[in-house]
Amino acid sequence: MMVMKFGGTSLGTAEAIRRVCRIIQSRTPQQPVVVASAVGGITNKLVQLAKLAGAGEKEQAAALLDEIVAQHERIVAELFINDDLTYSAVFHVGIEMLHTATNDIFANGEVNDELYDALISVGEFFTANMLPAVLNKMGISSVMADARKLLLTDASFGAARPLFDESKERVIATILPLVDQGVVPVLQGFIGSDRQGRTTTLGRGGSDYSATLFGAMLGVSTVEIWSDVDGVLTADPSLVKEARRIRYMSFHEAAELAYFGAKVLHPATLAPAVEHHMTVVVLNSMNPDFDGTAISSTSPVDPLHEGRVKSIAYKENLTVITVTSSRMLMAYGFMAQLFAVFDEYQTAVDLVSTSEVTLSLTIDNTKNLSAIIPRLEKFAQVRVEEKKAIVCLVGEGLKRTKGIPGRIFGLLQDTHIYLISQGASEINLSFVIDEKDLPRVIPRLHRYFFSQELDRHVVTADAVRPS
Ligand code: ADP
Ligand code: ASP
Ligand code: MG
Repeated sequence: MMVMKFGGTSLGTAEAIRRVCRIIQSRTPQQPVVVASAVGGITNKLVQLAKLAGAGEKEQAAALLDEIVAQHERIVAELFINDDLTYSAVFHVGIEMLHTATNDIFANGEVNDELYDALISVGEFFTANMLPAVLNKMGISSVMADARKLLLTDASFGAARPLFDESKERVIATILPLVDQGVVPVLQGFIGSDRQGRTTTLGRGGSDYSATLFGAMLGVSTVEIWSDVDGVLTADPSLVKEARRIRYMSFHEAAELAYFGAKVLHPATLAPAVEHHMTVVVLNSMNPDFDGTAISSTSPVDPLHEGRVKSIAYKENLTVITVTSSRMLMAYGFMAQLFAVFDEYQTAVDLVSTSEVTLSLTIDNTKNLSAIIPRLEKFAQVRVEEKKAIVCLVGEGLKRTKGIPGRIFGLLQDTHIYLISQGASEINLSFVIDEKDLPRVIPRLHRYFFSQELDRHVVTADAVRPS
């Protein structure tokens, strides 16, 4: 048995969906369990719809809802599954779900986290039903298994935490009999439900996480994450055209990259893989024969990688908070007092750097910032700077290399660097710059760290196979 997850980038058109079904067909001897994200771009539209409904914009919301339905209708017609009676019935259930969730927001007068999740989760319902309809037409027996009934989570809407053991019992009881009968189960990624049966989501991009969670529950050894790139690349291809595939990565390297913004993997994806010893393979549904990136604990050590940066990631839209307190910073208990405020408001801190009298940190989620600042101002002066970005260099080789910060600062003399941190794991080096500098800084770093050495150090790694 294995798990295969297809992202929105692989499910954007009827042609793409057919291609995905052929990939699933090629894996039938390995007994695949499929995890589906929504049609590409649909979750963004649903987010927009939730906002419009929350603002009481009835006409605009109705127009967007129609557009979302029409987009699915076109795909369904091109897939020739509109004559499939089961699918037609399901399709109407999906449309009904969209209307109900939108009307619930109107009735409430504003959108809250629960209503938001109820609406933005519907995209996955359409695709998780479309794939079985197409597979059945191809002669492959397949059904949707509703993730809302299988993945139990807490009630933190928008960033729900899975309740692993209880979910595992449900997943095993439902999925194993299907697989044993030769059926391909297709589950919605990204979504689950709380104990009261209310739909929850795992956070944007969360279907990668669903895939490794389901994989861990089913005890598989391989989870394939199918996207539209040849694997994990040396940088975001939208900023660096020359970005190259990385053949092997350790869990640590991939987890750092995911955490620091490499969108190809949701930040939580690797946690179940580490704990349950699964290999995660990132593959390209547009280039299915290419072997992609294998991420595992037994990632081969490439001697040529010694001292090398393997990949460069970045995370935008961050806020830097600088706290100054001449009296107290070094005093016992100050840090605890400071971080207690962030804890209380459930605001995660990404990067921290201290000096004698100031402490700077970055946060991603500014939802509670207006409450946090007055609390900090009770015991320190506070400065808030927005539109910042973390740049993160990742590679096991960094552990054994001296002088990389010096090389970076030399290279970026014309760039304001706010704070710098060598991660505790020693495999990442991160620093904060103005968001507007990213299009200049990332390609420059990539050229510096990869251009001459690329062939030797990234491509040669291909020759080193796991033992
Ligand atoms: P999916 O819909 O398949 O989940 P995502 O859009 O979530 O796809 O993630 C894939 C995208 O991540 C790629 O198209 C690429 O633009 C972006 N990306 C950013 N950084 C990287 C990286 N280091 N390696 C690969 N892809 C990256
Ligand atoms: N469809 C969801 C999103 O766009 C989940 C995912 O793509 O993984 O965030
Ligand atoms: Mg994704």
